Amino acid sequence: MKTSSLEAVRERDRSDPLGSLRSKFDPAPEPIYMDGNSLGRPPIASIEAVQRLLSRWREELVSSWSEWIDWPTRLGDRLAPLVGAGPDEVLVCDSTTVNLYKCVRAALSEDPGRRVLVGDASDFPTDRYLLEGIATETDRSFRLVPFNEMEGPQPEVLAENLAGDVAVVVLSHVNYRSGALCDMRALTRTAHEAGALVVFDLSHSVGAVPIDLEGSGVDMAVGCTYKYLNGGPGCPAFLYVRREHQHLLQPLWGWFGRKDQFRMGPGYDPAGGITRYLAGTPPIVSMATLEASLSVIEEATIPEIRRKGAALTEMMLELHDSWLAAHGVTLGTPRDPDRRGAHVAFRHEHGYRISRALIERHGVIPDFREPDIVRYGVSSLYTRYEDVWQAMTRFRACLEERTYEEFDGVRSRIT
Ligand SMILES: *Cc1c(COP(=O)(O)O)cnc(C)c1O
Repeated sequence: MKTSSLEAVRERDRSDPLGSLRSKFDPAPEPIYMDGNSLGRPPIASIEAVQRLLSRWREELVSSWSEWIDWPTRLGDRLAPLVGAGPDEVLVCDSTTVNLYKCVRAALSEDPGRRVLVGDASDFPTDRYLLEGIATETDRSFRLVPFNEMEGPQPEVLAENLAGDVAVVVLSHVNYRSGALCDMRALTRTAHEAGALVVFDLSHSVGAVPIDLEGSGVDMAVGCTYKYLNGGPGCPAFLYVRREHQHLLQPLWGWFGRKDQFRMGPGYDPAGGITRYLAGTPPIVSMATLEASLSVIEEATIPEIRRKGAALTEMMLELHDSWLAAHGVTLGTPRDPDRRGAHVAFRHEHGYRISRALIERHGVIPDFREPDIVRYGVSSLYTRYEDVWQAMTRFRACLEERTYEEFDGVRSRIT
């Protein structure tokens, strides 16, 4: 595909099989939102679902808990097809951080003699910090592998870093900075050959690319719901535990994970199956939004979502080469569409100032990642080809007109 003109781009939107889903979000025409990989847009149905939920609370009070209590498993089963999991293998609960903690600690109990945790030095901070914290807490050691960020974790490189008694390997499916998409199946095989379990973080891949946890042999996984799943700020995360590992105990012995919870008996007696991975009361209001946003995704198929995501990012790459490269921008994302997720990293020495100018002068919302990455993420459910064209046109204008020079590089609290 060569993107030659705005008219050609509009034609692509007209023939887009997913084009009609945008109306489910009813977005304002401005600004152009390129940050769905940090926080997706709200589906209209989510706003209505919250209103319905609050009315129900008002009318039925505590009696609604007889239904709400099953939402972590019910929504987990509904999400399961998006990650290639079966029923009773996924829960919606807690945050990604808390779920990763629970899963890694549970994985360690598989073979307590194994003393090493392995992660990716370029992974999202919470994943790295948790490994450090768990290693400290359990008197183990941890190793962060310096994978090439542009290539993502490679099986050969992982294999070279599995010496010793590795208990668990934690990897992200799509790198949050470069967008590199790794080979889940090959990496899992490599870790298993060294006797380690694997926990995948799917935060930047779920809802954007196909995932086959079952077929890839992955032991456990976690991911967030507010990026490509559009669950909303603070929407609970999910976790996956392969059926054969569900006997392992997670460390937060709360009442929701106990057998016969409402007997409130003495001592902790873990529930069977995935339920023991629950800890405390689920955030029901936030889960109402997730249910509504899943119903929007279910109107598309993952292959369709993937195809459009690859086409939108491909267009960004082409326009980068034509328009941005001459102004000192370099690509921080793999060129092979099979090796990237649904966002693109543009690197520039004034990246932070550019991202501020895009927001405050040009009506485009990207996000910024240290030290120099302007990140554009696309959602196949609501990003149009024309949005990408305009976002790239405005990026070029920012560079040509040097509007970023109006801004200093002092970081705000959230970037
Ligand atoms: C967004 C993201 C998280 C978020 O964790 P929270 O507990 O929701 O704050 C974790 N890991 C990765 C890889 C992410 O991209």
